[in-house]
Amino acid sequence: MPSDNLDITPLDEQTARTQMAALFRLAARERLHEGISNHFSYALSEDGQCFLMNPYGVHFSAMKASDMIVLDTANPPDLSDPKIDITAWSIHGAIHKVVPSARCLVHLHSQFATALVCLKNPDLPPIDQTSARFFNRLSWDIGFDGMGIGGEGERLASCLGNHNVLMMGAHGFLVAAQTPALAWDIAYHLERAAKNYITALSTGREVNILPANIAEKTAQQWEQYERDTNGYQMHLDAMMDVLDGGDDSYRH
Ligand SMILES: [Zn+2]
Repeated sequence: MPSDNLDITPLDEQTARTQMAALFRLAARERLHEGISNHFSYALSEDGQCFLMNPYGVHFSAMKASDMIVLDTANPPDLSDPKIDITAWSIHGAIHKVVPSARCLVHLHSQFATALVCLKNPDLPPIDQTSARFFNRLSWDIGFDGMGIGGEGERLASCLGNHNVLMMGAHGFLVAAQTPALAWDIAYHLERAAKNYITALSTGREVNILPANIAEKTAQQWEQYERDTNGYQMHLDAMMDVLDGGDDSYRH
């Protein structure tokens, strides 16, 4: 994960719970979730040992701040507890331990990003402003060997490298970021970029790929602009205002 892209102050637990609950509601609103299977987490401690996780069985559209459970990698939970998704524990526990600076992890099987990682060549070429944001900024895990139980978390953590996004072959993707706001902004735009690319491919016409120097310049402009404006947080704040205008029960 990049270490220098944001100046971050860790969130207190209540703020983290509220923002994470908002992320679940927004993921459902954008139809990025798959049933109740996906999972997001936020590390409460600097070493990644304790983290918030969504309980299994609560739909993203109904998630509340108080629903989030606290897990501790030094004290593994009782995996027979129906609230614990064993794949979530395995993946998030391992990544928070190995990459503690990634306070927020967002894992989704959204439609277009997942379609992309199912292609023989799963690259996301820079074809527009949104996809160019991810130019040379994606990591890949093509070692899918079943559900994320056992050593998958360690393997995923080692594949993430110096990027915020891990594209997971035959599975979905995972965003690792310092804040819920950044994780949301990346997840949202990644799905949009994949949607644009898959839609362009679906025409059957030749896709126009941007030159590498233009793609790199555009990616750097995204990063600079977001840093200068705190655009990630503005995006989340704006979306929380939208949520608050309808149903603010996620805050409870
Ligand atoms: Zn998954």
